[in-house]
Amino acid sequence: MKVFYAKSKLIPFLASERAKGKTSGLVPTMGALHEGHLALVKASVSETDLSLSSIFVNPAQFNNPEDLLSYPRSLEEDLEKLKNAGCDVVYVPTEEDMYDPFREPGFRFDFGELERILEGRYRPGHFNGVALVVAKLFNITQPDFAFFGQKDLQQFHVVSTLVRDLTYNIQLRCIPTIREKDGLAMSSRNRRIPLKLRPVANIFYRSLNAARDMLRNGKSIQETRLQIHNLFRKEPEVDLEYFEVVDTAEFTIIENIRNENKTALCIAGYLNNIRLIDNVMYI
Ligand code: AMP
Repeated sequence: MKVFYAKSKLIPFLASERAKGKTSGLVPTMGALHEGHLALVKASVSETDLSLSSIFVNPAQFNNPEDLLSYPRSLEEDLEKLKNAGCDVVYVPTEEDMYDPFREPGFRFDFGELERILEGRYRPGHFNGVALVVAKLFNITQPDFAFFGQKDLQQFHVVSTLVRDLTYNIQLRCIPTIREKDGLAMSSRNRRIPLKLRPVANIFYRSLNAARDMLRNGKSIQETRLQIHNLFRKEPEVDLEYFEVVDTAEFTIIENIRNENKTALCIAGYLNNIRLIDNVMYI
């Protein structure tokens, strides 16, 4: 496995691999890798000739400076995990390799309504930062495929919009969420959950399942939303930010389910000061 710290070395290397006719797949990450990330890498390994991962804690997508500071970092372990998963190339840029240290990026994405609902609403500027770094990574690595997790469902929609609107010749793959035994969605932030709060953490997944049962049994979205809010009120260590039902075709919040196989239930909130998100499909 080759590790690059500078795009000036990575770009010619990838060009020479492409010239040999190899297809490539990119898995962008922020490190602190777990089985969820590795599922993306394994999907890339099985579908492409050259599997590429990036590790970069992107400051532009953090709207909360404390979250950025406390974000877990474990580069050596990450590289070992990537090697074992069959990854061929890792790009670990320095901040200067991604952003001009003397100038804030002048370009801004506008994803319209997408930036005003759910993650967009609660994390202002987040999707602009995500799109900026993903576009840079696409331009640098020019992959044939890129792999993202369903866990960040709205992010997948943002990246799909980016690919469509800017005509990137990249096929996107959305990989199902990998969970702990009790259902908690794997996340780098889970490392920060104190042991004594760990049993409460799967409330997000439990709520999604309970909500899905309610909806399937004919309860309205409005009533279901109310019940999920009540459930969270009973748990002092957790705060619910949102529970919404979404039509994934255009990624809009809905009040009536029309398209069952394009309906997702999305949730986000805090366990202590740790922000967790999750979602399940209605079907
Ligand atoms: P992150 O390092 O959190 O930016 O995540 C990098 C990629 O891994 C994103 O596409 C995430 O959606 C994906 N990912 C994170 N957690 C999981 C999980 N539990 N299962 C599947 N994919 C995941």
